[in-house]
Amino acid sequence: MNLPFQQKKTNYILFSKIVRSPKITWNGFKINRVKSFKYLGIHVDDRLNWLEHINKQREKAIKMQQNLKRIARGNWEISQIHRWTLYKTVIERMLAHGSSAWCLNPTLKMKRKLSSIQRPFLLHISGAYRTTPTAALQTILGIPPLHMQLQFEARLTLIYRLRIPLPPFITDAQPHDLEIRQQADGSKTEHGVGAAFCVLTNDIWAYQWSAKLNDNNTVFQAELTALHEAVIYASHLPNHNTSKIHVDNRASIMASSNSKSTNETARKIFKILLSNPRIKVSWVKAYADNIGNERADQLAKDATQHGQHYSHTKPPKPHIKGLLRKRMLEEWQTVWKNGDTGRKIYNIMPSVSLRPTNWIREDVIFFSQHGPFPYYLKRFHLSDSDYCSCGRIGTALHYATECIYTVSWHMRKPAPNFEQEWLKRVANNLVSRQKIRGIIKFISENRYLFRPP
Ligand SMILES: [Zn+2]
Repeated sequence: MNLPFQQKKTNYILFSKIVRSPKITWNGFKINRVKSFKYLGIHVDDRLNWLEHINKQREKAIKMQQNLKRIARGNWEISQIHRWTLYKTVIERMLAHGSSAWCLNPTLKMKRKLSSIQRPFLLHISGAYRTTPTAALQTILGIPPLHMQLQFEARLTLIYRLRIPLPPFITDAQPHDLEIRQQADGSKTEHGVGAAFCVLTNDIWAYQWSAKLNDNNTVFQAELTALHEAVIYASHLPNHNTSKIHVDNRASIMASSNSKSTNETARKIFKILLSNPRIKVSWVKAYADNIGNERADQLAKDATQHGQHYSHTKPPKPHIKGLLRKRMLEEWQTVWKNGDTGRKIYNIMPSVSLRPTNWIREDVIFFSQHGPFPYYLKRFHLSDSDYCSCGRIGTALHYATECIYTVSWHMRKPAPNFEQEWLKRVANNLVSRQKIRGIIKFISENRYLFRPP
């Protein structure tokens, strides 16, 4: 061994709660203890809580953001959709670096930290007032809480690159009942031959698959193809899960339980079933009052007309990616539903989505009611009075319906107790939204008009 040892460049890190560390020497030289080190661009700290890494990434992201702003400040501004894209493709990627190592199970502390890192970017994209709740901005922009996005990616990486079994949140929802059905009528439709299966997990449709086969395929081949796909799908589920696959065709079960079947697909199914005893295939009566059966039937029929053409090289990755994304959305939805901030936006947008709404800055200001309104300014101690110069309380609604200075954009005032419905209606009506935008621009440009005397 001729590995040169440079004690000056060598440090050690102690992953322990012990404050006093042992003395380590090498050939009489003391080896220094460090609190963190950098490996493959990831800062590992001695408490393994990743806060050091997150902080470093934050600094990098902010620097990047400032550079982008500087470039844009020349003679053009970055539009909202471009700010959104830059966040998703540059900033979020930067923050996500190595997240599979550190964000699979983020602690509450990490979640808070990540949220505080994400917030200025959300404010920048939306142009909202600095007090606007983070949860509201996330929903408006279609950007999930940062820790959820990173956790989603960590889960995906762990499953695919490191080939680690599926994490428990998928396996929690057991058993995985696979409802599989092919086209029921026993003959091709005029449009061709289709195959399909769908997955029912704890009474929730977790996944569906369908394909259009060649016109010269038989219904039997379609049935075997669907069964084969379902078995492959089930074999990718975690080992301790039982999957039940229901088929309404006895012939395909018979064929696949025979190792010497003349049908190649049937032999493949047999092989998979042999090595995965936890996958059970059973027969259900066609047309029985069975929700899975009906659904798969309809899927297969639809596939004869609109289905993607079948190919054997379909990787299972999109299946799991879809499941993980759905899981992330469900988690986000729960947090949004049960949250106690951003309720004004929740009233208008009760469901989260990964697509941004078509709201511009003025819409965000009006509907969040965080904006240049005396009522808001008083609430956040930015002004002494919540009165508009016209003599009434200056709420967002006041300007949309009754203030003498904004008559040209007025809408009919909602009856008391119907404000929420009214706001919802206005938000979903483009003509009303144009008026709202007019009001916000007018107030912003003529602040002096609205200050109480
Ligand atoms: Zn007024």
